[in-house]
Amino acid sequence: MKPLTQRSKSVSNKKMTFMERIYLPAIFGGMWITLKHFFKKKNTVSYPEETRPVAPIYRGQHVLKRDDEGRERCTACGLCAVSCPAEAITMDAAERENGDEHLYREEKYAKKYEINMLRCIFCGLCEEACPKEAIFLTDRIVDADFGRGEFIYGKDKLVEKVDERIDVSKRQVWDYH
Ligand code: SF4
Ligand code: SF4
Repeated sequence: MKPLTQRSKSVSNKKMTFMERIYLPAIFGGMWITLKHFFKKKNTVSYPEETRPVAPIYRGQHVLKRDDEGRERCTACGLCAVSCPAEAITMDAAERENGDEHLYREEKYAKKYEINMLRCIFCGLCEEACPKEAIFLTDRIVDADFGRGEFIYGKDKLVEKVDERIDVSKRQVWDYH
């Protein structure tokens, strides 16, 4: 019968030679291959102590930016959520109260802003959709964890600290103003 693929092999019933019967050459051959691997360059790295270099425009964990005066830029317009193909972003908008002008740049702000990092595919569409230069992806890697709940990142993890700004200049490829 004609074989369906070209991968079939005919089995030979030839008698084993003496060297094949004592198995030692095969064992030493296998050990030689193992030994050679000891001296080969390792493909693995000891993460997190060691990290691989990433591309300058690597898309990792998001940041919600503040302006030069430390006010949150996000105005909770929802464009990032609408553009997200993974439906990973949710938010609650609120009106800025009198006296909160130093906290929020716009009259409306995101009271709650969450990204589900398990849904996110790091496509960067949220960043492109944002009219306020408020959300950027960074070169930070989302930490591994044991619980699914830990991957819902709220404002505590997303908004940059006033005294610990995150450089996103590599991702600002065009002028928004
Ligand atoms: S990077 Fe893509 S998938 Fe992730 S939150 Fe932004 S738009 Fe959604
Ligand atoms: S991050 Fe940008 S697009 Fe998303 S709600 Fe805030 S201002 Fe709008």
